Amino acid sequence: MDFIPDPQAAADWCHEQRRKGGQIGYVPTMGALHAGHDSLVKRSVPENDLTCCSIFVNPLQFDNPADLEKYPRDLTRDLDVLEHVGCDMVFTGTLASFFPEAESLDDIPQVDPLPAIAGLEAVSRPGHLEGVQAIVERLFHTVGKCRAYFGEKDFQQTLLVKQIAAAHGDITIVVCPTVRDASGLAMSSRNQRLDSSARQLALHLVQALRAADRQWQAGERNPAAIEVTMARELRRSGIQLEYAAVRDPDHWTADTPRGPLQKARALVAARIGGVRLIDNMALGESS
Ligand code: AMP
Repeated sequence: MDFIPDPQAAADWCHEQRRKGGQIGYVPTMGALHAGHDSLVKRSVPENDLTCCSIFVNPLQFDNPADLEKYPRDLTRDLDVLEHVGCDMVFTGTLASFFPEAESLDDIPQVDPLPAIAGLEAVSRPGHLEGVQAIVERLFHTVGKCRAYFGEKDFQQTLLVKQIAAAHGDITIVVCPTVRDASGLAMSSRNQRLDSSARQLALHLVQALRAADRQWQAGERNPAAIEVTMARELRRSGIQLEYAAVRDPDHWTADTPRGPLQKARALVAARIGGVRLIDNMALGESS
């Protein structure tokens, strides 16, 4: 596996592989890898001639400096994991190397927000999705034509990257299911920061989503009614709820859509023991 700590050299590597006829699969990450990330690489390896991965903790997408500082980092272990799951190249960079035209962080160009940036994460974490958009545009520019793999766990992010890919033209987005641990908790790099009581509390997120799913399976199609159920479940647990929302995944809206819906996704965000967690679930698709 090649390790290339420079975006321009990584771009040259990708260009060379494509010149030789190789189809590239690409998995962007912020490191501190877990089974969720592994699942994306494992999906890419058989679907492409080569798989590359980026590890970059993007300061632009953190609305909170303490969260950025505490974000877990372990490059040596991550490289070992990636080599074992069959990755061919890993690249990293710095903000300065991804934005060589910017003389300082303040000069990094602002993005024109895409429609997926409305509501939920945009409200809870102002600037977060714009930060994601800014770096993903550069990452796609670095890798070039590829299939890019993203986790459904960050659902609003998947909508955003599909819009970025459509503007780019050469990138196909592959969305992969959320990997959960045995208790049902969605895998996240931030879970490392949960102590055992916080981990127990965090289970209320998936429990609220399952309650939403049961209500949908029982015939409820009004998103507002399902939101009330989730909020009740979460507030009872005592966790600091940021949102418990239902959206039509095919017609994204900043606010709760008017029912009845044909198709729905429930999304939750909460802070538990100082750690922000998100999760989501398609309603009516569990067996
Ligand atoms: P991150 O390192 O958190 O930026 O995540 C990198 C990629 O891994 C994103 O596409 C995430 O959606 C995806 N990912 C994170 N957690 C999971 C999970 N539990 N299951 C599947 N994909 C995930």
